Amino acid sequence: MDKLIKIKFPDSSSKSYPINSTCFEIVKSISNSLAKKTLVASFNDFIVDLSYKIPSDGTIKFFTLDDVEGKSAFWHSSAHVLAESVENIYPGVKFGIGPPIDNGFYYDIDFNKYDTSKIDLDRIENKMLELSKQKSEFIREEVSKSSAIKFFKKKDDNLKLDLIKDLNDGEITFYKQGNFIDLCKGPHIPNTGFIKAVKILNIAGAYWRGDEKKQQLTRLYAITFSKQSELDNYLYKLEEAKKRDHRKLGKELELFFFSEKVGQGLPMWLPRGNIIRENLMNYMREEQLKMGYEHVSTPHIGSKELYVTSGHYDKYGESSFQPIKVPSDNDEFLLKPMNCPHHCEIYDFKPHSYKELPIRIAEFGTVYRYEQSGELHGMTRVRGFTQDDAHIFCTVKQVKDEVISVINLILKVFNALSFKNYNVQISLRDKENHDKYIGDSKLWDIAENDLIEAVKEKSIEANIVYGEAAFYGPKIDFMVKDSLDREWQLGTVQVDYQLPKRFKLNYIDTNNKKETPVLIHRAPFGSMERFIAILTEHCAGNFPLWLSPEQLIVLPINDKVNTYAKEIYTTLKNAKYRCSIDVRVEKISKKIRDAELKKIPYMIIIGENEMNKSQVSIRKKIEGDIGKMKIKELEKMLIKELNNHIN
Ligand SMILES: [Zn+2]
Ligand SMILES: [Zn+2]
Repeated sequence: MDKLIKIKFPDSSSKSYPINSTCFEIVKSISNSLAKKTLVASFNDFIVDLSYKIPSDGTIKFFTLDDVEGKSAFWHSSAHVLAESVENIYPGVKFGIGPPIDNGFYYDIDFNKYDTSKIDLDRIENKMLELSKQKSEFIREEVSKSSAIKFFKKKDDNLKLDLIKDLNDGEITFYKQGNFIDLCKGPHIPNTGFIKAVKILNIAGAYWRGDEKKQQLTRLYAITFSKQSELDNYLYKLEEAKKRDHRKLGKELELFFFSEKVGQGLPMWLPRGNIIRENLMNYMREEQLKMGYEHVSTPHIGSKELYVTSGHYDKYGESSFQPIKVPSDNDEFLLKPMNCPHHCEIYDFKPHSYKELPIRIAEFGTVYRYEQSGELHGMTRVRGFTQDDAHIFCTVKQVKDEVISVINLILKVFNALSFKNYNVQISLRDKENHDKYIGDSKLWDIAENDLIEAVKEKSIEANIVYGEAAFYGPKIDFMVKDSLDREWQLGTVQVDYQLPKRFKLNYIDTNNKKETPVLIHRAPFGSMERFIAILTEHCAGNFPLWLSPEQLIVLPINDKVNTYAKEIYTTLKNAKYRCSIDVRVEKISKKIRDAELKKIPYMIIIGENEMNKSQVSIRKKIEGDIGKMKIKELEKMLIKELNNHIN
């Protein structure tokens, strides 16, 4: 009888199998339905083909198209099929590399004698589907360096030969599917039959190995799925994301822009965008006041010494904006990259007793960090941004309650802005790597435990990641999913033992002794710029009433009702609604269309009928006509909606 090996599964259960059982045999022994959708496996954390024969005891995991590992194998395998299809249609082409990316994959191809402007993408897609239907297995073969070179010399593929040059004999593998052989270390999905929907998304130029001195190749970007409906859904979201791009909407709705003259990455808030910004800040201010925060204001710069003390100079000094010199003496100042040092100084303004803690210092603080111009992206990656920052100074015992209260605030914000789906990640230290972290190990244990307990108490499911903590303390990150299922990191809570020590902060404890407080950094929005960019895309520019730059517009049908319309407009304006009136000599249909483009939540349409009955007709954004009513009724309805987000 064959020797048995012991296989452990992610749920900690284990089972014995004959030695050299394949991953596929093992997954099939667990569940037929899981086996059907499993694409790759991992053995002791190495990703392997399902045909891999397990040589010893170890841990095994299985991945489907729902997992990152599964997606990556699926798309990488699809790249082979793309290449097979291209070679079929355009014999003699040469292949560079074909890796998976976040969404899909690409393949860099030298189209040789063929005119790249005439590449028939439809034909390539159709051929891919045809090849997939053959359910060809991806077969792994170990080859010697010399036979690998021989194979690609015969094929006259200089690109693959260039890749082989850097590989060692004994580590080279080929994969074959159908009639196509590629140099690849794998792993791949079992066979091409899993690929049922294909779309080539883009065609672009790319230099071989990213080196502009080298040959230019043609890069085909594509994506594949195991169902047509998944591809349709992906393409819909892609189209929708383009329409909702905050850079596009920001310009169309006149929210913000960037001026070349002011400088790259420095956001300029226009009046309409500033209304959203101010309202979000006011909302946060109110919530913070309720929770015992105090608001402060500090300057945009600080002496270089301040940041040397805080340690930020080490982190941002060389790679960010350089110190500002002054004419008279040797002082140097830095644009502030973080608000924390200023807040530490505010804490230290006077002595504190344990009775005063926690002290919660909040500020909408604008910070400046230099990003390479290639890294800049609309409002999500800028060089100057305003954080909804706060620093909580508390005792070790208070950390858990403070963290719970910050979680409450973050969830309230998500709820107020209809971010319904979110994930939570708790980042702890790597226990085997103590030297990476500063501070007392016991305090770390307490803080890490506090974060875990706080999340548990809120009945939130969290993903615990070891080794992701900052060197000065553990943290919790909130990742929200927007309406297109894209994930964004918002909201951070971070415990810090280091900064209070660096600033020699203290309080007098119950024994009349000086004790160092713990610092909690937190920012529910993150930054106003990034948050509003994400919100804009999440709601496609259809901001809730309380944030809409323009809440109401009065639309008289003709000039006979202009006087009455103006009265209505004045009433609403006096009631402090952000309201306008359109008295242009235009058809009402045109006025409605223009108001829709501006995404104004309510149109107040006035004709003679309405005037005679002292009423107004209401047309609501997206919903359409909602009927006639008295102005008092309208106001009642608006007030109710305006208070929706406050709970
Ligand atoms: Zn491959
Ligand atoms: Zn901070």
